[in-house]
Amino acid sequence: MAHPHSSPPKRADIGWFRRSLGVFRYTRRAVELVWGTSRGLTVALAGLTLVAGLLPPAVAWTGAKIIDAVVGAISTGTAADQRTALMWIGVEALLVIALAACQKGLDVSQSLLRAQLGHRVNMLILDKARTLELTHFEDAELYDQMTQARREASSRPLSLVRRSFGLMQNTLSLVSYGALLAAFSPLAVLLLAVAAVPAFVSETRFAGEAFRLFKWRSPEKRKQAYLEVVIAREDYAKEVKLLELGPLLVQRYDDIFQKLYAEDRSLTLRRGLWGFGLGLLSSAALYGAYVWVAVAAMASRITLGQMTMYLMVFKQGQSAFSAILQAVGGMYEDNLYLSNLYEFLDLPVEAREGTAVEGSRPGDGIRFEQVGFTYPGATSPALSGVDLHLPPGRRLALVGHNGSGKTTLIKLLTRLYEPTEGRILLDGTPLTEWQPDALRRRVGVIFQDFVRYQFTVGENIGVGDVPHIDEQPRLDDAAEKGMAKPFIDEMPDGHDTQLGRWFKNGRELSIGQWQKVALSRAFMREQADILVLDEPTAAMDAEAEAEIFQRLTDLTEDQMAILISHRFSTVRMADDIVVLHKGAVVEAGDHEGLMAENGRYAHMFNLQAAGYQ
Ligand code: ADP
Repeated sequence: MAHPHSSPPKRADIGWFRRSLGVFRYTRRAVELVWGTSRGLTVALAGLTLVAGLLPPAVAWTGAKIIDAVVGAISTGTAADQRTALMWIGVEALLVIALAACQKGLDVSQSLLRAQLGHRVNMLILDKARTLELTHFEDAELYDQMTQARREASSRPLSLVRRSFGLMQNTLSLVSYGALLAAFSPLAVLLLAVAAVPAFVSETRFAGEAFRLFKWRSPEKRKQAYLEVVIAREDYAKEVKLLELGPLLVQRYDDIFQKLYAEDRSLTLRRGLWGFGLGLLSSAALYGAYVWVAVAAMASRITLGQMTMYLMVFKQGQSAFSAILQAVGGMYEDNLYLSNLYEFLDLPVEAREGTAVEGSRPGDGIRFEQVGFTYPGATSPALSGVDLHLPPGRRLALVGHNGSGKTTLIKLLTRLYEPTEGRILLDGTPLTEWQPDALRRRVGVIFQDFVRYQFTVGENIGVGDVPHIDEQPRLDDAAEKGMAKPFIDEMPDGHDTQLGRWFKNGRELSIGQWQKVALSRAFMREQADILVLDEPTAAMDAEAEAEIFQRLTDLTEDQMAILISHRFSTVRMADDIVVLHKGAVVEAGDHEGLMAENGRYAHMFNLQAAGYQ
């Protein structure tokens, strides 16, 4: 390692050093964050820090006054000198009390600030997560970054600010000590300062290494978190128990810990050893200066009081030094963690600034023009060359094997993804030109993996149209259409019945019942004229599914419906049927036409019909 003080640093070393310093740029943002969170507390912190930094040198200086006054009183024996000595003791006592008050004040304002700041940062992270695209959530690296930011970053900004203030406080003390000491010898000041540099450099390096370790092992940490979920969550318990997965999962969990621990231990040991070695250097410098002061006192170049003061200045200066070192190492680490937070918060999210609230050809319906889509990182397209037209008043059924692209098509239509080729139009206007809100208001969609919110049953339906979440008649109507009303009416608290098992008195529903709740959710959107059901009826009996579809056919003239189902008894009722195979439309028409064609559709239909005979 280069010693920047002993030889001119090489070019590469300057670059490394500058990079290290560059990391500190997040300090400003952290301070702004804290300032924005609570001005009062920030001012209190800064003020108390200032006073707490100046008081210890004042105490040391008073100490010298006491001793010299006592020594003076002994030699003169006058009452006036004795009173002076006692007066200085009184002053020191007051200073010490003021210092204690400052420390407590610092503690209190930090605790208050910590709570507010943690909340603020979590809000920032959640706000950002809200604006992310679906593709972001599927990106493992970004997901890691978000998890890290969530796990660490709420404590880091305060830690950084606390350390910055601590740094200022100790620097202030140190400068004052230096000023006191400079009267003895400027060379001594320089000696002590230089002796601390190697420890500083080593601290920054190790902090960097610790961070890289932390960042790099994030996937492991995530695996661990996932194992915890699988072992400890109710919805996994059934299968984990029956397959006796417990020991296997716990073993994997433990293996990850052991691997990470081995790395941690190595770093901790090296950090400790270097810290001790370089600390010795500072101690040697300190005691060298000690000897110097003692010699000066014995030669009567300084008074006894001055000697006491210098010794105290050395001692406290040394601890101020090591506090500064720790603060700098810690700040470096905090900055690295914050870089993670701010990288996440600064992640550019494509603005979707479409402005259209109605189409150029109202009543044209939905059009897919040569639409193709490849998932990020995938080698082959999930959809290609899809042409499709669905005018208002018609019901479209999508059929095809698993993985043929049906859900992907719906995700494109609902703009969860952008097509990588071609375009989709609604009422003659490309989806990209629509105002996102206007578009969303027109679409009601339920996916096969719809969410089972651990809310009340009324809220589970109401989330389908948030502005109307509390309107009982709307909820009743939607529940009626989604066929959930009969079992909701039987529940003890009606719409206010808590669902799921996470919270007290929660009721669990059967999968079919959950699907009816989800369907009712889709029916909440009264203004929606595009209703999309992606296999939400799979767990219902055939009769219930047919009835749901019947309700879809009762839709008004200007509404469109898209249904994905594997039940041909339902599919055959659709006006238009599109058969997807490996991401391409291979057949399209109505039931009779497709049966007459005797192709893929007819084959699948006959296969299922044979099963029922
Ligand atoms: P379907 O709904 O017809 O069963 P999907 O549209 O879900 O089929 O899937 C079509 C293809 O896209 C499949 O090959 C599937 O593996 C792939 N796929 C689906 N979702 C994703 C995703 N989020 N990321 C990458 N590939 C995906």
